[in-house]
Amino acid sequence: MQQTYRGSCHCGRVSFELDGEVKYAIECNCSICRRKGALWHGTADASLRILSGESELTLYRFNTMTAKHYSCRHCGISPFSRPRLDPSVWVVNIRCLEGVDLASLPVHGFDGEHWEDAARALRGGSQTT
Ligand SMILES: [Zn+2]
Repeated sequence: MQQTYRGSCHCGRVSFELDGEVKYAIECNCSICRRKGALWHGTADASLRILSGESELTLYRFNTMTAKHYSCRHCGISPFSRPRLDPSVWVVNIRCLEGVDLASLPVHGFDGEHWEDAARALRGGSQTT
């Protein structure tokens, strides 16, 4: 069911709304996601609205400097990122959303530890990108 989810960092300075339907979670095993323990929901740029705290976000980048990893500079929580696969969209940390029953969500793995191979596999079946 399409709906609007509310989300926030831990201290609450960063809050946001997400339009859409969270049907499954993406668990990535890349060097940063495995340390964060985040579960991700991918969404279009326009589906995420930052309601407060945009100025409290810090940006962390590494390696190819493509992805943008945002976190609250007060509490350290990472509510969303711009993924390396397509930095024009968002991935939202499902653990920061209200009203989502994580235990009921299927978890799909993304092999970010071997990013080039995983990206090629994802794009391989499609000529649209
Ligand atoms: Zn915070």
